[in-house]
Amino acid sequence: MAFKNDEYYMGIAMELAREAADDGETPVGAVIVKSDGSIAGKGRNSRERSRNALCHAEIAAINEACQVLGGWRLHGCTMYVTLEPCPMCAGAIINSRIDRVVFAACDPRSGSAGSVTDLFKLGYCHRPELSSGIMEQESRKLLKNFFSELRRKNQKMSGIKTVEAKTSEQIKKIAAMADEIWHEWFPSIISEEQINYMLDKFQSESAVTHQIEHENYRYFIIMSGGEYVGYTAIRPDNDGRLFLSKIYIKKEHRRKGYGKAVFGYLKEICRENGMHAIWLTVNKHNDDSINVYKKCGFRIIGEDVTDIGSGYVMDDYFFQLDV
Ligand SMILES: [Zn+2]
Repeated sequence: MAFKNDEYYMGIAMELAREAADDGETPVGAVIVKSDGSIAGKGRNSRERSRNALCHAEIAAINEACQVLGGWRLHGCTMYVTLEPCPMCAGAIINSRIDRVVFAACDPRSGSAGSVTDLFKLGYCHRPELSSGIMEQESRKLLKNFFSELRRKNQKMSGIKTVEAKTSEQIKKIAAMADEIWHEWFPSIISEEQINYMLDKFQSESAVTHQIEHENYRYFIIMSGGEYVGYTAIRPDNDGRLFLSKIYIKKEHRRKGYGKAVFGYLKEICRENGMHAIWLTVNKHNDDSINVYKKCGFRIIGEDVTDIGSGYVMDDYFFQLDV
């Protein structure tokens, strides 16, 4: 059997990734090929189904190849994998002495062959040759479709729909919801004057428009059964975190699990865009919100007092949720 080209074997790995997606798993597939072109091992992600953090595509393929070849040394073998290996898999590749690794798409979140770190350059006992970018677009598309489909399903299950605010009508609706919710929620925490000052400065139609157009913010209207139930605003930061700027649910729609559904939606946005955490600021006296964030897995990472002008300050905790 003659060795075929990289695209051919990556195509097989891509097929395995598709299989994983059909099974509800993040689509990643891997195949290990001997120097004579024969396939020694195949694997695909099965972390959800196995309920096991070790069940990555590369580990499954290495496992099979070791059995097929009757030893732990996979000298002369090439691994084709649809996504850049994580630290665990990069470690397993080093330990199994695979000669060459070819991956399709980079993984900015946990890729350890150049994205977050490059374990193959750190001077371990074995250094595989590395190629990337083969069928990158296909892999990216597969991942993107998988996450958007997952988001659609989750939203359907949770009963919410998020609509990104783009038109002035939608932004007006957000400003109106802010006015209603802030005047109902904040009087026990900050003065009426400060509420009005902050609404004008941060949540008026012109302020929101400015944030969207010039400050990289995205606003989403949260809907359920055709009703407006609240809104949320996010901003992707350069350090790989998603800043959750606002999340407000109207009074009559609280305690229905909508907030939790929005967090689920934001986590998917993070995963899809290779971000590793969601962070937010919350007023130190906003006990109810603090409790909700803690319940959702957020932890305090800092605190600060910010001067917002006109003699007002924001006395906040910083919370973070790792995704
Ligand atoms: Zn892995």
